[in-house]
Amino acid sequence: MQRQIQVYNSLTRQKEVFTPLHEGFIGMYVCGPTVYSDVHLGNCRTFVSFDVIYRYLQFIGYKVRYVRNITDVGHLLDDGEDRMSKGAKQNNLEPMEVAQKYTVGFHDMMRIFNTLPPNIEPRATGHIIEQIEMVQAILNNGYAYIANGSVYFDTLKFAEKTGEYGRLSGRVIDELLAESRDNLKNQDEKRHPSDFAIWMKASEEHLMKWNSPWSVGFPGWHLECSAMSTKYLGEHFDIHGGGNDLKFPHHENEIAQNMGSCGCQPATYWLHTNMLLMNGKKMSKSDGNTISPVELFTGDSPHVTKGYSPMVVRFFFLQSHYRSTNDLTDEALQAAEKGFKRLMEAGKILTSTVIDTAGEGPLDKDILEAMEGAFADMDDDFNTPRALSRLFELVPIINSIKDQKISKDQISKTAWDTLQEKWFHLLFDVFGLMEDTASAANGPVDGLMQLIIELRQQARDNKDWPTSDKIRDTLQELEIVIKDGKEETSWTFK
Ligand code: AMP
Ligand code: ZN
Repeated sequence: MQRQIQVYNSLTRQKEVFTPLHEGFIGMYVCGPTVYSDVHLGNCRTFVSFDVIYRYLQFIGYKVRYVRNITDVGHLLDDGEDRMSKGAKQNNLEPMEVAQKYTVGFHDMMRIFNTLPPNIEPRATGHIIEQIEMVQAILNNGYAYIANGSVYFDTLKFAEKTGEYGRLSGRVIDELLAESRDNLKNQDEKRHPSDFAIWMKASEEHLMKWNSPWSVGFPGWHLECSAMSTKYLGEHFDIHGGGNDLKFPHHENEIAQNMGSCGCQPATYWLHTNMLLMNGKKMSKSDGNTISPVELFTGDSPHVTKGYSPMVVRFFFLQSHYRSTNDLTDEALQAAEKGFKRLMEAGKILTSTVIDTAGEGPLDKDILEAMEGAFADMDDDFNTPRALSRLFELVPIINSIKDQKISKDQISKTAWDTLQEKWFHLLFDVFGLMEDTASAANGPVDGLMQLIIELRQQARDNKDWPTSDKIRDTLQELEIVIKDGKEETSWTFK
């Protein structure tokens, strides 16, 4: 029998028993990146969260169709310029070159974080026809109007007729009236400030534009997700996800468009991840309060004292629930590194130790309850931090078996084997963690590096400069970077 899980639904603002539309099958759509610059760590946190959700749903037996889009047109900056065009102009490239460059970079980063690829990864520019068809359907239903070659969604009419606009984000039309900043440039064409463009007429100099019944132009940013989720998952599907910052206007407008074109809510459950912070504040490039994934891996940033491997960072993400903020600090990463090592070491003991006690052991109950509890935590809205804490509860028992402080006859063969099997399922299959072989966190390479770092320190203490220079030059040739921190010296591959 399928495990029963509960998910927090942003639409109803409560935890609900998850009931898929079709038995055994789940359709899940997650808003993907806008590929006009390098993917940032906040994005990675969100995609890692949905990766764990995707993995867990599959692990408990669902067949999941996971669709995550690539936004390569229409996501405008506050001044009305398309993010893609801006990237293209800055680097003297075709917009498609920009999209390709950052899509490849995004995929590389997702692989580094060991996230599974989605089943379908549609691009907005590859679905212009579907988007035009959706605009037409919304017009036909009377929820949009044409103004000077652009088409706007009529939010007031939609709200009056359906009472739906603002339900997800909890905003009311009056508030929206005051604050809508969407498409400031063409404010006068709108009947109401909260109306938003679903098709925009392009100016002469606009780089990305297509023919349509209304003008040569381009689709509004929110439209792609409505059109592509409908195409690949149907008019109504199970889960729609994204970061909290997308609730309004993006997801609110997606719902309006779907309802405006086909009359139904696109998704039963709306799941939103919370933001990644750094040192308690929003990660922001303009304030300098930001660190790129690569800077974090190499330690080449004033915000960290050393580099942290991708698996340590992934582990750090999992230590917070996806609906809580996640505060990245050097201390928290150091703690995550220690915790990650501890779990990996315990895993090695599990693999290398055989217990063949027949019958029951006095520790069986604690072990089996903790493991069951960890899966129950995952059933409860994918509570990764609580599940991890159950594993940590078991580490002292596992270590004591190795140190022979607990004798093997305290645990039955069945309990030990079950522990081993479930431990690896949870850590590797569900949490998507991997052994950290090529990094500073683990393995014989690390042992050798620690020896080299020690010899280098001895040479420096003895003012033996030829030896310390030789070590430095050789490591440089091997593309290994050593970083002297306040408390310890660490290393990473370049
Ligand atoms: P974008 O490329 O800006 O469209 O964002 C891609 C995904 O990353 C969206 O689901 C965003 O909500 C999410 N995201 C953006 N910034 C952060 C952040 N600081 N923390 C967590 N998720 C974020
Ligand atoms: Zn979207």
